[in-house]
Amino acid sequence: MLNFEKKIIEKHLVTGGAGFLGSHLVEKLMQSNQEVICLDNFFTGSKKNIKEWIQTPNFKLISQDVTEPITLDVDKIWHFACPGSPFHYQSNPIETAKTNFLGTLNMLKLAQRTGAKLLFASTSEIYGDPKINPQPENYFGNVNPNGIRSCYDEGKRISETLCSDFQRIYNLDIKIVRIFNTYGPRMLANDGRVISNFIIQGLQNKPLTIYGNGNQTRSFCYVDDMIDAILKIMASQVNGPINIGHSLEVSIKELAEIIKNKINPRLEFIYKPLPSDDPLKRNPDLEKVEKIINWFPNTSLEDGIAKTILWFKKNNL
Ligand code: NAD
Ligand code: UDP
Repeated sequence: MLNFEKKIIEKHLVTGGAGFLGSHLVEKLMQSNQEVICLDNFFTGSKKNIKEWIQTPNFKLISQDVTEPITLDVDKIWHFACPGSPFHYQSNPIETAKTNFLGTLNMLKLAQRTGAKLLFASTSEIYGDPKINPQPENYFGNVNPNGIRSCYDEGKRISETLCSDFQRIYNLDIKIVRIFNTYGPRMLANDGRVISNFIIQGLQNKPLTIYGNGNQTRSFCYVDDMIDAILKIMASQVNGPINIGHSLEVSIKELAEIIKNKINPRLEFIYKPLPSDDPLKRNPDLEKVEKIINWFPNTSLEDGIAKTILWFKKNNL
């Protein structure tokens, strides 16, 4: 059972709390009457995502870069600050690498000073362009250290290393979750991620842009399922690293068909070059997460896409 289900009030720091995943997490914590501090520099996040809470006494917003040290009294640190989409993390790669290394170091030092539990939002990207499929946690990956995705992939890998060393040396309770592609309401319209791109293009009656031949695969998890797993992992005894995602692997062409059929079956596709180092396959091995927290994603891709389209329509995006 989660602590806040037992009505214990704790102080939570959510870095990147104004972003896509962070704001869903903030929402769940606020709905459970927890004390929440959201730290964000609004690079890809927005006050709109947290506007409901800004006047609430148990919510505090700190507008700051996570690379700057901070002193706070907290019980739990949810470290999500880092741009999530290739378009944004590649727009300033040096800043992305810095956010990962210095930001994670700052948060680990805060955990060390306060004794707070820390959960680090790592990524399936640490497997790079994997040579085995699906990817279990003990696979070391196939990452290009010099490519356009490296600032993010290597940034997350060094962050995992820092987490593991702080845990070993200082005996801290640190959890590493490897998040696979997640989608849903509050994705940025200009994020460049495939699901938001296809939905926006479809709603504007434009052709859907498929990069490469569209045979590359991903597995997409709906945001509510992802947040549910993240909350359960923080409440568990497990440190990880642990994969979280959906096990249904689809090609980008199949995804385009699903979205096209939900918006307008007459939509067309156009093919554009595949960006360099774009992984050809990605699918999480979920055996560990299923066993340890008895968690399975409940939302089918069809239902999740339908909900996301509805959200984009309602929000006039
Ligand atoms: P997002 O870009 O929507 O959110 C990131 C948030 O972090 C934003 O609010 C942004 O303003 C903030 N931020 C960025 N750099 C910062 C800095 N230096 N200081 C303070 N705040 C900063 O991305 P997201 O999809 O919500 O991803 C959140 C986290 O989850 C990221 O760490 C990302 O790597 C990880 N993740 C996400 C996915 C996914 O599919 N969404 C997959 C794997 C991992
Ligand atoms: N992609 C695409 N069209 C788009 C955006 C992305 O075909 O308009 C492809 C992209 O090349 C990749 C996949 O969709 O193969 C997932 O891309 P996304 O940026 O969403 O996530 P990531 O590459 O980080 O998994």
